[in-house]
Amino acid sequence: MTASFFQFSLDGLKNYLVQHGCNADQARLLFNWHYKKNKVTPCEINGLSTKTKEVVNSYLNFNLPLIDQIQTSEDRTVKFLFSFQDGKKVETVIIPFNQKYTVCLSSQVGCAMNCSFCYTGTQGLTRSLKTEEIIGQFLAAQTWLTLNRPHDNRILNVVFMGQGEPLHNFDNVKTAVEILISQHGLSLADHKITISTSGYLPGLLRWKDEMPSVNIALSLHSPVDEKRSQLIPINKKYPLKDVIPLIEQFPQGKKRFVTYEYLLIHDFNDSEEDALQTAQLLVGTKAFMNLIPFNPFPGTKWKRPSTERIQKFFEIIESFKIPVTIRTTKGDKILAACGQLNSL
Ligand code: SF4
Repeated sequence: MTASFFQFSLDGLKNYLVQHGCNADQARLLFNWHYKKNKVTPCEINGLSTKTKEVVNSYLNFNLPLIDQIQTSEDRTVKFLFSFQDGKKVETVIIPFNQKYTVCLSSQVGCAMNCSFCYTGTQGLTRSLKTEEIIGQFLAAQTWLTLNRPHDNRILNVVFMGQGEPLHNFDNVKTAVEILISQHGLSLADHKITISTSGYLPGLLRWKDEMPSVNIALSLHSPVDEKRSQLIPINKKYPLKDVIPLIEQFPQGKKRFVTYEYLLIHDFNDSEEDALQTAQLLVGTKAFMNLIPFNPFPGTKWKRPSTERIQKFFEIIESFKIPVTIRTTKGDKILAACGQLNSL
């Protein structure tokens, strides 16, 4: 049985090679070749020793997830259903902006958090994804773009907002991030990567010391614990009073701030009072707010607010000088928008 090349951070690959009698420096050559040049034929790499070639050929594989289904929407959003070796499936979405793409990666098959507004949350957790399955989504999407849209094929942003709670799969997500930002790996800028969490405190407690310096987004959805718990049940165990002060301690650079995601739901959390309380909670923090009008999915009881209510909410937040945007919904016709992903 072979190990996946895509499970290793650069340091992890160095250790693996040393354990197999190779020189650790060869890891960098392999990383450059496979991630930067997107090749899978180690015998062609200049400077690779015979021993390393032998180890790569005998012990490593470069398998990517298979594309089970593809849906494209008029706005050029693409939703993939990827299938892994054990037959489990996740969805991954690429979203176009200015001739480039953001990829929305899944971190788990299903999710244990059971958020009431989320299609994935209705399915429960099947299992967490391995590092190679997370990186595999990126590479398989990139490969598809190169073949099908050769003139606008660059993925420059990564958001962990697909299926799963990324911090409930901390180690695999962290290694995937290390590969994404490694200058010998996929070379993405760290401020172009955002991990979105429901506020899973055990993961947040590890973040400060262990996670590379990428952006964090918190699903806020209500400043009132009673309401937030109806949407995000783990709020009962990990309330905002514990989560927000912790997140605000994370190192923040010039281009880095905490994004607070706020799903606007008709007649539930979209009133002027809700907006005022939210602004009072966040004023003075390094917050950036993202308002997301709810995307209905089959069987949900929640509805999308009117444009006027969305606008009023926006204006109240803005009047507190908190930077705020209303997220344009892309891909909602193919159920590729936030909270709509499925793994069936
Ligand atoms: S919103 Fe995120 S954390 Fe909540 S159930 Fe859905 S996938 Fe899980």
